[in-house]
Amino acid sequence: MDIVVLPGDGIGPEITEATLTVLRAAAARFRLGLRFETHDVGLATLGTHGTTLPEDVFARAMAADGTILGPIASYEYPPREQGGINLSAAFRTRGALYANIRPARSRAGLPHWGRTPMDLVIVRENTEGFYADRSMHLGAGEFMPTSDLALSVRKITETACLRIARTAFELARGRRRTVTAVHKANVMKVTDGLFLRCVHAVAEEFPDIALDDVIVDAAAALLVRDAARFDVIVTTNMFGDILSDLASELSGSLGLGASINAGDSTALAQAQHGSAPDIAGRGIANPSSLILSSAMLLDWLGTRRGQPRLNEAAAAIERAVDAVLAVPERRTRDLGGTTGTMAFAASVAEALATA
Ligand code: ATP
Repeated sequence: MDIVVLPGDGIGPEITEATLTVLRAAAARFRLGLRFETHDVGLATLGTHGTTLPEDVFARAMAADGTILGPIASYEYPPREQGGINLSAAFRTRGALYANIRPARSRAGLPHWGRTPMDLVIVRENTEGFYADRSMHLGAGEFMPTSDLALSVRKITETACLRIARTAFELARGRRRTVTAVHKANVMKVTDGLFLRCVHAVAEEFPDIALDDVIVDAAAALLVRDAARFDVIVTTNMFGDILSDLASELSGSLGLGASINAGDSTALAQAQHGSAPDIAGRGIANPSSLILSSAMLLDWLGTRRGQPRLNEAAAAIERAVDAVLAVPERRTRDLGGTTGTMAFAASVAEALATA
């Protein structure tokens, strides 16, 4: 199994190193035969290669079984013409990794901030919506006809809505069998109307799954008040981005927020959060997000490639992270502890032996 590793910017290199410590321990215990191939990207290659994403690195990642991408500091990148390629955008749109799967789960013994415990997954459409910088074939979806008028185009297509809905319903089959479509169709009647029609059409193929829908602002309140009511949430790109940060923080910390970007033949593990420049280089970031994202990648590969050992390894990593998080003094700073990034990873690797 070939895994391409791209450490990224900010806290990326630190949490990527921590993640590799855990993955190597998992590979040894479950005899996974993982081959890691690390390449610089982001600010590291901007100076050396004139681009944040060298073309050969993108090609290697798309050809690999899976990719692990550290957070990227896209706000620091120069314009595209000067080499500033937003890696998230490139992998999601050019790489057709259309489903961003973002779980949020509270854990026994670990304080959560919502009023109820939660165990939910946000299935976020990854290729269109409000992301005007990447949704056009030619040109940008944001433009200024005059200096005092700025316009932005929101793109919603039937193809993208149908495939993200299908991803959500398939996921719900292995969970509590409920899908909630989150939208703003009361205001954006045309675009979110199309999204909702597609979700309802896909629901017909899944009579065993319950479907309801909630308006996005109400969904934000319900995540705080009664997150336990949600199982699988399916939503458009930006709503999913915002709600998943909220859900992860409510579950304990954004530093726990794992995700994969999945396409039809490959997937990319990526923490939900950004490059956290405020704590970069200090060895205090919580690497759980990327460790758990990588476990999701192993699980996805295990199911797609029919290799149950990968699924077992993924479940063991989850249990090992939970076991370490259950001990207050082993937690990282964002969770009130004092443990550093690498020490946390070493504890998880050790816990894997018995997880
Ligand atoms: P970016 O622009 O790259 O998204 P940001 O700082 O605006 O960076 P995040 O990186 O998502 O946004 O960080 C939001 C807050 O959460 C910051 O205070 C950051 O320190 C904290 N944070 C994010 N990830 C982690 C982590 N893995 N461990 C601890 N704290 C984190």
